[in-house]
Amino acid sequence: YTKIKELERRLFFMNDCIFCKIISGEIPSFTVYEDQDVKAFLDISQTTPGHTLLVPKKHVTDIFAYDEQLAKTVFSRIPKIARAIKASNPVIEGLNIINNNGKVAYQSVFHSHIHFIPRYNDQDDFK
Ligand code: ADP
Repeated sequence: YTKIKELERRLFFMNDCIFCKIISGEIPSFTVYEDQDVKAFLDISQTTPGHTLLVPKKHVTDIFAYDEQLAKTVFSRIPKIARAIKASNPVIEGLNIINNNGKVAYQSVFHSHIHFIPRYNDQDDFK
């Protein structure tokens, strides 16, 4: 019975959640990094070129739902992905790492994610 409830829960999120659909491949995305537990893909808004999102494959709403194991899994990937983004373009000078939790904190997609926003010295660097 517990297993059926868990499957129901997963199905609900799979049907409803845009990032679950990206993880399952139902919605296309450009993958930056992927392993068994996480996926990183380009943000559709491209706040700056290279703007990337890192998500746990497991549907978790926000940081308040993380346990220590999930925190290790997700946050331990950050340096590797940050370096890969920086290495992708020599004119990237810096990077903001941002995590919004809750509507009042500007979260708009309720599958936990971490933003990587590359920063450039000059707008001309975008070209
Ligand atoms: P905000 O909209 O304030 O940035 P979030 O922190 O919840 O709120 O970020 C959600 C992000 O998901 C947004 O930057 C948005 O551009 C991005 N996004 C929404 N739909 C898609 C999609 N299909 N593919 C990639 N990124 C997406």
